[in-house]
Formats: sequence, structure tokens, C-alpha cells
Amino acid sequence: MAASRKLPYFRLPPLPTIGEILKLYNLRAEKQLSQNFLLDLRLTDKIVRQAGNLRNAYVCEVGPGPGGLTRSILGAGAADLLVVEKDTRFIPGLQLLSEAAPGKVRVVHGDILTYRMERGFPSHIARKWEDEPPNLHIIGNLPFSVSTPLIVKWLENVSNQDGPFQLGRTRLTLTFQKEVAERLTASTGSRQRSRLSVMAQYLCTVKSCFTIPGRAFIPKPQVDVGVVHFTPLAESQIQQPFKLVEKVVRNVFQFRRKQCYRGIEMLFPEVRRLELVEVMLRTADVDPTLRPTQLSIPHFRALADAYGQLCAQNPGLAAYDFREELRWKRRARTAGDHNDGVDVDRY
Ligand code: SAM
Repeated sequence: MAASRKLPYFRLPPLPTIGEILKLYNLRAEKQLSQNFLLDLRLTDKIVRQAGNLRNAYVCEVGPGPGGLTRSILGAGAADLLVVEKDTRFIPGLQLLSEAAPGKVRVVHGDILTYRMERGFPSHIARKWEDEPPNLHIIGNLPFSVSTPLIVKWLENVSNQDGPFQLGRTRLTLTFQKEVAERLTASTGSRQRSRLSVMAQYLCTVKSCFTIPGRAFIPKPQVDVGVVHFTPLAESQIQQPFKLVEKVVRNVFQFRRKQCYRGIEMLFPEVRRLELVEVMLRTADVDPTLRPTQLSIPHFRALADAYGQLCAQNPGLAAYDFREELRWKRRARTAGDHNDGVDVDRY
């Protein structure tokens, strides 16, 4: 058994249990906020162990709620724990915990989607991007409705080395709906391979840690939960702007069961579609009959590079969105205008 399981690095004074905290502050889970709590501290310890060694670490916990995971992070020896909680009802319980661990816990009442976490940590912990990750970890058991948009936002921050990643390759340990966790870690050719798999894996080492059965939560969610660990790569596998990569990947996966050229077509205005798809696939040297799920990260790198080149040669192409073209055509038809072409001058 690992030493960290037997002996916590930091022992909190006797406190009410998480169950008692919920009763004490009359904290019922808000369905609207998709709140599901973990009361079993062995499970929260297990999540925290996935983050690696937290001795003397700086940690940001997102959505601490009644504080089960928070206690485990402290037990693992974190020196400075910043917790960001949106629901005011949890703040008194978290303050109680903060008093029990003097100088270690800072409680922020805020929304993690807008909170500038990087300002909450001293600049001396920053590491150069290519060096080892800083001694800063992000850990959280968030509602599913928040964790997916949040990881997409953080992946963009990884790509730009800003936000929490301006301090270096900050590691993340987060929970997701099991199906999303599977998509994040899905390898080339697997059934779960999706847009999220490519976006996460070209920027990070993504590791599926373990699954928590839904019954472990109070109240029990409809689905099981997957714990996923991310370490940003020292060198991103695709050297193109995040938005460009996102556009290529989104279009390719638009028709996930069809051959990949079908999605690629949607990157180009109808009048030049055949010509530009051919150039893009030839430049990228990608077999147009492969299915999106069969494309590896190097395939996507080649596609993003080829599309980047085409955008540089064809002003206006980067801004092209086929949905706008469809809307434009529909409007033209409604207005009785039977011109089905597109405005060639637009690109
Ligand atoms: N970490 C606790 C646990 O494991 O028992 C609570 C988990 S509960 C699934 C999610 C928590 O995230 C709730 O306390 C909820 O209020 C909080 N939360 C939801 N949206 C948030 C947001 N945008 N920013 C910060 N906290 C949020």
C-alpha cells in the first residue's frame, strides 16, 4: 500500500464528517447545478493520488462543494490550496475547513469559467514551458455541464500558453461523464474517437485513470464518472493556431461515419470546393477514403498545415463557414432570388 494511503502528510483536527456538514448547513444538492457529492474519503483520496505527489504543492480545486476532495488534497500535503466555488451555500463549510488548516486554504466565491486563476498564485512558481511542469495542480469534480466547456477553454489556454498555463505546463486531474472521459482518451480507430480526442491529445498527454460508479455519489447521477489526468505537452503535436485546428477537426468529424473528404469539403465555398479539397488532401497526403475516426494526430497535423497554407493563399477562406453559406442561400431562396451561387468576391 502506498505510504500516502496509510499516513496523510497533513492531518486535519477532528471535523464534522462531510455527511454532517451537509446536514449542518442544510445543503441539499441543487439539481439545476447538477450537484453530486462524494462522501467517501477513500474515493476522494484515490482521485487525489492521480494528480501525483502533492507534497508542498500549490493546488486550485474547482467546485469544492462540501469539501470531501478538499480534505483529501490537504491530506496529500498541499501547501497552498485555492478553492473556487460558485454556490454561496458551501462557503461557510469551506471557511470552517480553512480555519482547521491555518494558512493553507483560500476560499474564493466565484465562477471557474470566468475566474482568473493564474492571478491567485505567486509568479515564482512559474516554470518555462519546455521545463518540468510547475508545482501547481488543478483538481476538480465539477458538474458535467461545466467540465466539458471548461476543458475546451483550458485546451485553448494550453495552446496559447496563457490563463493557468502562463505559469507553465500546469497538470489537471478532473472528472467527466464516463462517455466524455472515454472520448478524451480514445485512440485512433476506436469507436469513441471524436473531436475531443484529437483536440485534447494534440496538446496533452491524456490518461484515463479510473471509473467511479454513479452509486458512489449523493445523489446518484444517471451515469458513471471517469477521472482523467492531463499533462500539457512540451511541444504541441500541431503547430497551428487553436482556432484553425478546431475548425479542421470540427468539419472533419461533421460526418463521422462517412469518408473524411466529406467533412473536409465543408471547409470550402461550393464554387471552389472540388479544386481546394483536392489540393488540401494532396498537400496533406491523406487518403480521402479514411473515416474521421481512423485519422491519427499526424494526419490531423498534415491537414491543419495544408489548410493553413490554403488560408494564407486565399484571403477570406479562414473566415468561411459553410453554415453561413447555407443560411445565405436559404435567405436568397425565401426572397425569391433563384441565384444558387455564392459571392465569388467574398474570398
Ligand atoms: N467537489 C465536491 C464533491 O466532490 O463532492 C462537489 C462536486 S459537485 C459535482 C460540483 C461542485 O461544483 C458544486 O459544489 C457546484 O456548486 C460547483 N460548481 C458548479 N459550477 C461551478 C462553476 N462554474 N464554478 C465553480 N464551482 C462550480
